Amino acid sequence: MGTYLCVSHSTNHYWKDTKMKAKIGLELHVPLPTKTKLFCRCSTEVTADPNTNVCPICVGFPGTKPKLNFNALTLSIALAKLLDCTINPKISFSRKTYFYPDLPKNFQITQFEAPIGVKGKVTLIDHEKTIQITRLQLEEDPGRIKYSKDGRTLVDYNRAGMPLVEIVTAPDFVQSTEVLEFLEILFATLRYIGIENPEAIVRCDVNVSVAGGARVEVKNVSGINNIKKTLEYEVSKQIKLLKAGLEVQRVTLMFDSERKITLPLRKKEYEEDYGYIFEPDLPQYNIKELPEQINTPPTPVARFFTYITTYDVKDPKEQKKLKKIFFSNKEWGDILERLTKKIPPSKKLHNLLLNLLETNKFDSKTFYAALSEPHTPLVPFIEKAFQDEVTTSVITEQLTNYFITGKLPQLEEISQSDTETETLVTTFFEQHPDILQKVKNNPKMINFAVGQIIKKTGKKHLAKKIKQKIEEIITHK
Ligand SMILES: [Zn+2]
Repeated sequence: MGTYLCVSHSTNHYWKDTKMKAKIGLELHVPLPTKTKLFCRCSTEVTADPNTNVCPICVGFPGTKPKLNFNALTLSIALAKLLDCTINPKISFSRKTYFYPDLPKNFQITQFEAPIGVKGKVTLIDHEKTIQITRLQLEEDPGRIKYSKDGRTLVDYNRAGMPLVEIVTAPDFVQSTEVLEFLEILFATLRYIGIENPEAIVRCDVNVSVAGGARVEVKNVSGINNIKKTLEYEVSKQIKLLKAGLEVQRVTLMFDSERKITLPLRKKEYEEDYGYIFEPDLPQYNIKELPEQINTPPTPVARFFTYITTYDVKDPKEQKKLKKIFFSNKEWGDILERLTKKIPPSKKLHNLLLNLLETNKFDSKTFYAALSEPHTPLVPFIEKAFQDEVTTSVITEQLTNYFITGKLPQLEEISQSDTETETLVTTFFEQHPDILQKVKNNPKMINFAVGQIIKKTGKKHLAKKIKQKIEEIITHK
């Protein structure tokens, strides 16, 4: 007799069931930011009208010859380097056969025998664990299928032939938090090679098995939240099946993002079902010399570790801030590295960069370019502002203003001399002796007094100096 299985979402405790250990692997598809497609000169513009960026090559007319896009090749090698892969000296392409309307040629040009990279790895910072990358390959994207409201199935071949990198990890993850940290690092790495919004464009196939059972693949999940939900749902479902004495089927599923559940898509294919053959229209490429010629920055993780070790940053909160700076994009890390040549690294410097990053008023590329100019006024300005203990909010305001108007203020205007601050404070206390008395009786009232002075004078940026001055007055009198 059959029985109902409850597969609700409140499943966090299942991760802790050691007998029911989960094994998770990922297959990620990363669209590359090239101007043209992988094997033809069609534009990769995503906003184009349906079926306008197509040519005989990308829709596979007989007799047409594909030609490899060199930019896509160098970007994928750069990524393979950043993911610490061994790069194959010779690479080849294969035809993966399958029949589906999104693929007009009935095969996809991908890599099988000799992909760009193998045996890479990513080090997780929080989980202190290494995830192995099995392979990294270059392939073309299929077209896009759209289901219209009146029941028709429509296809747009603009996407057919766009360059994709597929990254396959070993099934090294045992819990969803590891997957999420891996994606955070991967997305940061992708930003380092110029992919601007990886969260929105990377598609993920998730493989899950529990307690050595059959492997289930959930296709095409995108967005961190959906990936998390997929994992939690799928692991708990498999555990419940196994606990009920039922077998997990080897199937391919899709994630229903509305209902947050996985649904059957088709029975799982095996690699041999695809009937791979060598792509006869493309040569074998000797890329032995290329990896050395392609400059890559340090990885976001390497940068983070170098920085916290060099400057002995132990506070977890400070480490978190630095991670945000290094992970946001390559330029913020470049900016921090450049500034610390002039200004000693400090919490204040991290806070300033985070403030600038979060104001979103100008981009890091503009800032880094301005900092790199030979006679830039920015470095001396920031240096002096730090010496004068100008607050980060005022420096942020002034820098933002600089990128809008092109003008930097005289620092004298914003950092008044000690005498001026003194006049400000003493005048205030002359007018409000009661407040001075309160501060003398209770030093906790200092902040209140500082607030009152700022309220009256509008000199927000002098907060620190005003506070020091009041402290001086109450200790000396
Ligand atoms: Zn084309």
